[in-house]
Order: sequence, then structure tokens, then C-alpha cells
Amino acid sequence: MKPLGKLTVVCGSMYAGKSEELIRLARRSLYAKKKVQVFKPSIDDRYHQTMVVSHMGVQHEADTAVNVAELQAKVRKDTQVLLIEEVQFFEPSVVEFVVQQSDRGVDVIVAGLDQDFRRQPFGPMPALLAAADEVIKLRAICMKCGNPASHTYRMVDGKPAHWDDPIVLIGATESYEARCRNCFEIRKGKKK
Ligand code: ADP
Ligand code: ZN
Repeated sequence: MKPLGKLTVVCGSMYAGKSEELIRLARRSLYAKKKVQVFKPSIDDRYHQTMVVSHMGVQHEADTAVNVAELQAKVRKDTQVLLIEEVQFFEPSVVEFVVQQSDRGVDVIVAGLDQDFRRQPFGPMPALLAAADEVIKLRAICMKCGNPASHTYRMVDGKPAHWDDPIVLIGATESYEARCRNCFEIRKGKKK
């Protein structure tokens, strides 16, 4: 009988533990002797090209893909568990792709940021959350006050980012923190 596929979305802010959860689920599938493939977008070379690495250094081997076409080409026919890290960086067609895989009987687990630094829905995440069978929403700890944190706060040269700051800033030092709604900050309007 055809196995029943499933789509699980792991989401939350930065530092919420999405990578650790994805790695934990990948390891469980390997213990269950399933055929597992882990992918991450090539754009995310934060720590390592061929590894998923959490902020605490937990790591797991991963294959990379620049786009959905490459994901499609690299997924093997006999894969039973398909995991995708930083899924928010893939184009909108990733939604149709993971739904097709789930329909085929694959256990698909994707992890991604649900909000950008403006607290706006991130890329394909809203549609992925709508399509999911199961959603695991994780929270980090606010780095200012210690409350549970659902937001990713962006700092540029030590100050809150502007709403209209470009995603890639040349020559500026930027950093990200997990923040609760009380401590989240952004500077509105045109950058002066
Ligand atoms: P994500 O993939 O969601 O960015 P990771 O799985 O890479 O998160 O990292 C989660 C780990 O980061 C936690 O287990 C914890 O040890 C560490 N960490 C560092 N800063 C924070 C924070 N502000 N809140 C929660 N965990 C944090
Ligand atoms: Zn706070």
C-alpha cells in the first residue's frame, strides 16, 4: 500500500531552534532506517556548504540546491523523508513541489523563518503553512528581556534597521537578535 505522505513546517524567528528540530527529525528518520535527504539553499553559506549547522553547532550533512529545479533534479525516487532547511529562500514554486512530494507518499519536513526583520511574512512561508499537515512553531528567548520571542530584530551599525533598508547592505555591520513584541524595534519611513 502507498505510504501516506505528510508535510510538516517548522517555523519561528531566528534562534528559535528550527535547525536543531530539523536535525533531530532527520536523525530520528535515520534511526528508523528510512531513506533520508536533507537540503539547504546554496545562498545560505552561513557556516558550511554541505552541512546544516545550528547556532549551537549541532550539525548534519546536507545537499545544496540553488532553486526548485535543482531540488527536483536531486531528489531521489526512493527518498522517504525529505528535509529542507531555510526554505524561505526558495522561490514560490517550492510550495507546489513539496505538496507533490507529500502526495507521492514522502514525509516532507521544511524549516524556515516565518517573518522577516519587518515582521512581514517571509517568501513562500504563508503558503507552506497553509498547505501543511502539521506546523511546529518555535519561539526563541528575547535577547533584551528574556520573554519568549517570535520576532527577528535587525540591527545595522548598532541601531534598529530602517523599514526600507535593503536586504543586503554594503559596508555596514549588521546583526540579528531574537526579540519579543515589547522589545522589537524598527525605524519607519525613508532612510535619511
Ligand atoms: P534557528 O534555526 O531557529 O535559527 P538554531 O537551531 O540554529 O535556531 O539554534 C537554536 C539554539 O540557539 C538554541 O538551542 C540555543 O542554544 C541557542 N540560542 C542562542 N541565542 C538564543 C536565544 N536568544 N533564544 C533561544 N536560543 C538561543
Ligand atoms: Zn523582550
